[in-house]
Amino acid sequence: MTDVLRETALYIDGRWVPGGGSDLEVLDPATEEVTGVVTQASTDDVEAAVAAARAAFPAWAATPVPERAAVLRRVRDVVVERADVFAATVTRELGAPPKVARALHVDTPVAVIDATIDALERFAFTSEIGNSVVRREPVGVVAAITPWNLPLHQVVVKVVPALAAGATVVLKPAGLTPLAAFELARAFDDAGLPPGVFNLVSGSGRTVGDLLTRHPGVDQVSFTGSTPVGRQIAGVAAETLKRVTLELGGKSASVVLADADDELLATAVKITVANCFLNSGQTCTALSRLVVPADRLERVEELAAAAAAKYAPGTRLGPLVSAEQRKEVESYLDPASGGASAVTVFGGAALPERGWYVSPTVISRVEPDSRLAQEEVFGPVLAVLAATSDDEAVAIANNSIYGLGGAVWGADGEAALAVAARLQTGQVDVNGAAFNPGAPFGGYKQSGTGREIGEHGIADVCEIKAVQR
Ligand code: NAD
Repeated sequence: MTDVLRETALYIDGRWVPGGGSDLEVLDPATEEVTGVVTQASTDDVEAAVAAARAAFPAWAATPVPERAAVLRRVRDVVVERADVFAATVTRELGAPPKVARALHVDTPVAVIDATIDALERFAFTSEIGNSVVRREPVGVVAAITPWNLPLHQVVVKVVPALAAGATVVLKPAGLTPLAAFELARAFDDAGLPPGVFNLVSGSGRTVGDLLTRHPGVDQVSFTGSTPVGRQIAGVAAETLKRVTLELGGKSASVVLADADDELLATAVKITVANCFLNSGQTCTALSRLVVPADRLERVEELAAAAAAKYAPGTRLGPLVSAEQRKEVESYLDPASGGASAVTVFGGAALPERGWYVSPTVISRVEPDSRLAQEEVFGPVLAVLAATSDDEAVAIANNSIYGLGGAVWGADGEAALAVAARLQTGQVDVNGAAFNPGAPFGGYKQSGTGREIGEHGIADVCEIKAVQR
């Protein structure tokens, strides 16, 4: 029997207050048992949170940049001090294996906080064009609505740049994984963030999320989640003409060019498999399509199968977040989801008795228009597609309603960069380049609008004013 973590109060106006809604149970995906209970917000709680954020806005917006940076640095230090608690919380609510919980779910958001503080200290809040002073001013109250797949990171990438800009925030975390957000609220409180600058209201999307999206006291909705819900939020927010930032789904391609030698091909396959299976495939930028030269397909299949075999469910590979999510992912495990020509090159690994696990799976000879090539799986399922030329590889990569992440692998670095420029996607990593915690993050096409993280994340929550003199 797992111990149960109880979060009995929301964080509104710098105080912990019991929520007026019903309690919500949080399940541990590895044990399928209740591991947390959180209080949820009523309509009155949402009203109080928005009112607190509005009241706190003028003073926070007027707080000098060095002071805002100093508070954020204290927040960062508290998160680092409590890194073990954050990691254990993410393991509890998402089932992430401990190593993944620490590196992906805690160290990465800490790097994002550091990069945001750097960006804040360099940010051009004013610039000049002719006789105009162009001012970037924080938008006001930002409602942040976050998904379950990265319970701390998705909150940090929205909330920290907004606070840096001088905006105030009301956060509604995902119902499946709300616990890390409560821990973060404690970090804000302990770091001395002024009352009302950050507020936490948990609850369902249809109630609390919808209230925030409609609320006239909210100036911007910053949403990360699925494309259908993003579309709905954009429609509702349009009624009050709110600014909207949407970070949505993806079906990112990893493209191996014809000039890649055997060593680079092996690296490309290994890193693509690792990226696709990271967080049990539950990342929006997952390289879930591997596009390779047709004459190297058999070698790629061997390499991908060997790499996938190392992700044993229950040890290196965590569970999916819920029984529903597992059911959804299972519908892609049949190679028919990749079209008539598709074959499974790895699948059917042994699963632990408890927990919402699926086998890591590699399906090859996938047809570019098939369901598997077109739909976001959000599970550890890699589609391998063959291309007869680099041009065809680019066309396959761009044959998607999404455009969030991507990768290019090639022996000629300049040629690989030129291919990166042709991909219709918000981020591309060339030859395994490292994640940059200060780089703009966001999507082309139906992967969203707006950019998060670093100076672009700060700019995303600012209005622009031209003052002529
Ligand atoms: P979701 O769209 O179901 O929910 C996301 C959030 O929106 C949750 O907090 C939910 O409660 C809330 N919500 C739901 N309906 C709402 C409504 N009508 N009004 C207001 N809020 C509402 O997504 P999810 O299942 O939690 O997350 C998985 C999805 O998120 C995947 O599609 C994934 O690709 C996407 N994602 C995108 C990024 C990115 O940065 N682009 C990052 C991570 C996840």
